[in-house]
Amino acid sequence: NKQIVLVSRPVGMPTNENFLYREAPVAEPQDRQVVVQSHYLSVDPYMRGRMSDAKSYIAPYALNEVIVGGIVGEVVASKSDKLQVGDKVLGMLGWQIYNVVDAGNVTKVDDSIAPLSAYLSVLGLTGLTAYFGLLDIGQPKEGETVVVSGAAGAVGMLVGQIAKIKGARVVGIAGSDEKVAFLKGELGFDEAINYKTANLQEAVAQACPNGVDVYFDNVGGVVSDAVMSQLNDHARIPLCGAISSYNATDGDLGPRMQTKLIKTRSLMKGFVLSDYASRMQEGAKALAQWLSEGKLKYEETIVEGFENVPQAFLGLFKGENIGKQLVKVTE
Ligand code: NDP
Repeated sequence: NKQIVLVSRPVGMPTNENFLYREAPVAEPQDRQVVVQSHYLSVDPYMRGRMSDAKSYIAPYALNEVIVGGIVGEVVASKSDKLQVGDKVLGMLGWQIYNVVDAGNVTKVDDSIAPLSAYLSVLGLTGLTAYFGLLDIGQPKEGETVVVSGAAGAVGMLVGQIAKIKGARVVGIAGSDEKVAFLKGELGFDEAINYKTANLQEAVAQACPNGVDVYFDNVGGVVSDAVMSQLNDHARIPLCGAISSYNATDGDLGPRMQTKLIKTRSLMKGFVLSDYASRMQEGAKALAQWLSEGKLKYEETIVEGFENVPQAFLGLFKGENIGKQLVKVTE
C-alpha cells in the first residue's frame, strides 16, 4: 500500500518536506471490515489547521501517521454483510491507496445519480457547508445583495448559486480574471471582482450600489474589510473560513470593521458544518434536487496521480483550483 504521512508541522506555507510517502502492507480485513480502493481524494483548506497543533474544534493530525480526509472509492474485498465488492463508498479515510475499515465507517453512495466525485463536492460536505452557512446564518431574502469571497472555490461557487436560487443579487470575489469570467459567464453571478487587481474598496462599492445584506466570508483579511465597509443595517455574515490567515505567521490581518458591525447592528457568526449534524438529510435532499433540476452547477479541478496529492493541497493556497480540488487516485 502507498501512504502519505505528516512528518512535521508546517510553519507558514506547508512544503513537500512536511509530507512523506511510504509503503506498507494492506491488512487482511477482519469480520465486518471492508477494503476500499481510493478513487478520488479531497484536499481541503481546513486540513492546514489540523497540521498545526493549535487547539481547534477538531484534533490535530498526529505526526508520522497517515493523513485523514474525505475519500470516495470502491469496495474491493468485504467481510461485511452490509457492503459487497463493487459497492461505491464515501468516508473519512487515510491518504492511501487502500483503506481497511469497519463497514459502518463508510457510507454507500449511488454513482448513477451523480458521478462519484460529486460526493466530495456538491453532494458532500462542501455543498452542505454552503447550504447551512448561507441559509441558516445568512438568510438571504429576495432582492438583497449577497457577497461571497473565495467565490470560485468549492464552497463559494455553490453559495453564490444558492443565493441566486433564493432571488438575491450576487457578487463574487475571486483571485483571477479567468475566475471572474467564469462566475459571471458560467454561473450567472451578477458581478464579480478580482481582488488581486481591483481597488477593493471602490470595486465593492461599485458592485453593490444598494449595500451588502449578506457577506459569506471564506477568506477574511483585507477582502473582508472592503466588503464589511459596505454593510447595510442588520446585515448577516456567516464566517465560514479565513484562508488568507491559515499560513500567516503574523496575526494582524483583519477584518477590522468592528465599529461598522455595531453601527449597522450586523450579525457575524462563525460555524462549522458539524453544528448541523441533525439536519444533514434536509441539506442533502435540497442539494440533490437543485442539481437534478439543473439549478446548481459544479466545477472540479482534478489532479491525476497519488504522487501529486501534496501539490494539489498546496495549490489551494495559491488559488490553482476552480471549484472543488480533487485528486484522481492512480498509482
Ligand atoms: P476552495 O475551493 O475555495 O479553495 C481555496 C481558495 O481560496 C483558492 O482557490 C483561492 O482562490 C482562495 N485563496 C487562497 N489563498 C487566499 C488568500 N490569501 N486570500 C484570499 N483567497 C485565497 O476551498 P473550500 O471551498 O473547500 O473552502 C473555502 C473556505 O471555507 C476555506 O476558508 C475553508 O477553510 C472553509 N470551510 C469551512 C467549513 C466549515 O465548516 N466552517 C467547511 C469547509 C470549508 P483565489 O484564486 O480566489 O485566491
